[in-house]
Amino acid sequence: MMQTHRYAEATPRPYWAETVAAPVAPPVLEGDITCDLAIIGGGFTGLWSALKATERFAGARIALLEGETLGNAASGRNGGFCAPSISHGVSNAVARWPGEADTLVRLGRENLDAFEADLTEYAIDGGFERRGKLNVAATPWQVDGLRAMQASYARFGIETDLLEGAALDARLNSPRYTAGLFEPNYALVNPAKLVNGLARAAMARGVEIYQDSRVTALRSDGDGVRLTTAQGTVCAKQVILATNAAVPLLWRLRPAIIPIWDYTLLSAPLTDDQMAAIGWQGRYGIADSGNQFHYFRKTDDNRILWGGYDAIYHYGGRRDAHLHDRAASYARLEQNFFDAFPALEGIGFTHRWGGIIDTSARLTAFVGTALSGRVAYAMGFTGQGVSASRFAGLTMLDLLEGKTTERTRLKMLSSPAVPFPPEPIRSWVVKWAQADLAREDLTGRRSLLLRTMDRIGIGFGS
Ligand SMILES: Cc1cc2nc3c(=O)[nH]c(=O)nc-3n(C[C@H](O)[C@H](O)[C@H](O)COP(=O)(O)OP(=O)(O)OC[C@H]3O[C@@H](n4cnc5c(N)ncnc54)[C@H](O)[C@@H]3O)c2cc1C
Repeated sequence: MMQTHRYAEATPRPYWAETVAAPVAPPVLEGDITCDLAIIGGGFTGLWSALKATERFAGARIALLEGETLGNAASGRNGGFCAPSISHGVSNAVARWPGEADTLVRLGRENLDAFEADLTEYAIDGGFERRGKLNVAATPWQVDGLRAMQASYARFGIETDLLEGAALDARLNSPRYTAGLFEPNYALVNPAKLVNGLARAAMARGVEIYQDSRVTALRSDGDGVRLTTAQGTVCAKQVILATNAAVPLLWRLRPAIIPIWDYTLLSAPLTDDQMAAIGWQGRYGIADSGNQFHYFRKTDDNRILWGGYDAIYHYGGRRDAHLHDRAASYARLEQNFFDAFPALEGIGFTHRWGGIIDTSARLTAFVGTALSGRVAYAMGFTGQGVSASRFAGLTMLDLLEGKTTERTRLKMLSSPAVPFPPEPIRSWVVKWAQADLAREDLTGRRSLLLRTMDRIGIGFGS
């Protein structure tokens, strides 16, 4: 008998866009303009850069060019987990940047505080709520992992609470998970509201934003930089490149990121009884602990966003639009959802969507300059760029100002990005690493390949 899937009835579009009451509607760039600073990319990184640039360069003409619509890519498709981290978590900082781990952890916390303060100052409704995060474990080795995480967090003075038995059931009642580690200092945002709010605030401070204005060429032009779009050109003194997982306009950045596809299902709103049945009382976000992990959270109207697990790479780094919808990934998400929440049997899904993660070999963003310091770039956030994008924007502005700051001195940001090998070796290595990561989830044993990658400070993740 053919199995019917509930995800099949879901709308194949990100839900977040539907929550924005009055989206900004910037025009297309038509004709030629000159400006002091041009920003390419209308996601979080480009928008934070634009807004913060207005604070630094009073009276400057700043233009932002977005190839499609603002937030069409990762910034409008993510889970909205807004971490107190700029290093893809504490353990990644400790593993890859041990010498500056203390600084990275502190800066991550300060960034989240400053992020919230900026939203308040500019009256941006980004759906920001600092309700904490529950990390849950499904196997004995994942429970050991949570204990190790608690010890590591304690070293940095980060408060956590280890939950088992009834204490866990009171936070999340699922037959799948046997332990949890709750960290109170973690936030959530509504991605589309944040994009819209940042754009509105930037425009109110004089930033010119253009949509459907893809930059097709970036080249040196006298003392400045010339950007070409289908219907216009921009001559800018300086440029910020904030294009994330798109093929970078600078050739030398192309081997530094690979596009990894990640998928999401959104349930119908839960009734109070359904929510009580799974014991999810507060509004904290939750993530499980495997290499292949799910992240889940509530929307304002109590739908469950359930994303992650699969991390799909297509040969040659394909980014075709039709890949945003992937039946096999939704089917797996659906199966895993009902395994985690059998009490929700019968509930449907209203939305499904996919998005591209700009995976870098160290799972953290790299920031640098090109064309004699006239272009600054930041990318490689992997799956944790919601809060780190603000920090990266500030770092690019430091570089364009020629300032040496605590941010620009970070090895994490300024070390040359580790290139991925060319095809076909790239696909082969990614598949091999993924198979070993999946095996580790089943057995708790780390393969020789993964241990070797750990030793040389590289990894594969989402
Ligand atoms: C499904 C999914 C879930 C995620 N969940 C989380 C999460 O819960 N927490 C977290 O911290 N991170 C998460 N992330 C990662 C996070 O969303 C990103 O790191 C972050 O949004 C990056 O912002 P950005 O502005 O750099 O990139 P983007 O939002 O991708 O913006 C780049 C923009 O540049 C534009 N562009 C590209 N090329 C050009 C060009 N030539 N000319 C003009 N414009 C161009 C694109 O159209 C795009 O709008 C997730 C990502 C995905 C895909």
